[in-house]
Amino acid sequence: MAQFNFPREVLLVEIERYCSFPDCATRNLIGLTKAEAIEYRGFDCTRCQRWNDDTIALSDLPVSWAESIPTNDSEPAN
Ligand SMILES: [Zn+2]
Repeated sequence: MAQFNFPREVLLVEIERYCSFPDCATRNLIGLTKAEAIEYRGFDCTRCQRWNDDTIALSDLPVSWAESIPTNDSEPAN
């Protein structure tokens, strides 16, 4: 008997960002895997190809991801 296992975990999240250059300001939709979200530091604009420094907010991510992604919000207590 076949059993299909669909992972409950979200595999890809899409975030919406606007290019930070005023002469462009193009809307970018950025698809990120969990691994990419952890390393996320910005994106190349799809229109002008310029790099935009960026960070990701936990609110942009599924709860199951946020738990495993270190952010500045949760600094380790030393
Ligand atoms: Zn741009």
